[in-house]
Amino acid sequence: MVANNAYFNGEFVPLAEAKISIMTHTFNYGTGCFEGIRGYWNADEEQLYLFRMPEHFGRLARSGRILGIALPDSTAELCRITIELIRRNNPREDVYIRPIAYKKSEVIGVRLHNLEDGFAIFTAPFGKYIDAQGGCRCCTSSWRRVDDNAIPARAKVTGIYVNSALAKTEAQLNGFDEAIMLTHDGHVSEGSGENIFLYADGALVTPGSSENILLGITRATVIQIAREELGIPTIERSIDRSELYSAAEVFLTGTAAEITPVAEIDRRTVGNGGIGPLTAQLQEIFFNIVRGKQRKYREWCTPVYAVSHSGSAG
Ligand code: PMP
Repeated sequence: MVANNAYFNGEFVPLAEAKISIMTHTFNYGTGCFEGIRGYWNADEEQLYLFRMPEHFGRLARSGRILGIALPDSTAELCRITIELIRRNNPREDVYIRPIAYKKSEVIGVRLHNLEDGFAIFTAPFGKYIDAQGGCRCCTSSWRRVDDNAIPARAKVTGIYVNSALAKTEAQLNGFDEAIMLTHDGHVSEGSGENIFLYADGALVTPGSSENILLGITRATVIQIAREELGIPTIERSIDRSELYSAAEVFLTGTAAEITPVAEIDRRTVGNGGIGPLTAQLQEIFFNIVRGKQRKYREWCTPVYAVSHSGSAG
């Protein structure tokens, strides 16, 4: 049987025992923050690589500062705990890791102060998130992205995902794969769980940090590999919705979505309608990097298991 342990308020316990009360503050008010980290199985090396784990815990700490939630440990210690949890579960496939920091007090009352903080991590097997062969079909959502003065999107707040869920459900029930949300002033913000890039005139363009986006770790990865590996610059600026329609290529980035090509937006074909050549190149580089096959970027990949005798350095 596959082990399924969780880390729950300081202890490793079977997932089935990691339970919260229905009175938990976060359950009632959405007052938590979380991360999604991918672990990539490298079958040749029999190794599981966790992609940019310290950056994820760094972002979790920043989300926590916005919500007034203190993490129980340093980033280094949380990375160590995560590795131990995965070793206990011992997966031999791609996984998703979900750390969550939350208001655990069992009280009635909307606030962020004078509440106790909780912390948990669980893991699950994980494959493709957006499974749209040949590119996904997107729509512009009728739901606007939460504004920084409403709920700050730069913090990965549990409650924010109501905004994302409204947009995603609207998109899917209307026959699309994913929603692209605009800011209140009508600029492109992001997908329900992804950042967005367009490629036009030899440069990548992506909304800047003041466009109510989560500053994605995959976004930062793509900006770096486009520059270092392909010599392609990324411009961070406000983007009009109509620019997406005329771009040569559009793609989404995220831990879950990885690099997902966009084939269609609002029933208009993007570029040639398939996977654009640059998107394909970025995907190839990205998938090599995340499985620990690019020595240059090996520091982004944390190995979980003790190095096996058959392990080869990439
Ligand atoms: N925006 C939103 C709303 C998200 O949920 C995610 C996924 N975490 C992203 C962007 C992409 O962030 P990352 O690349 O760090 O996963």
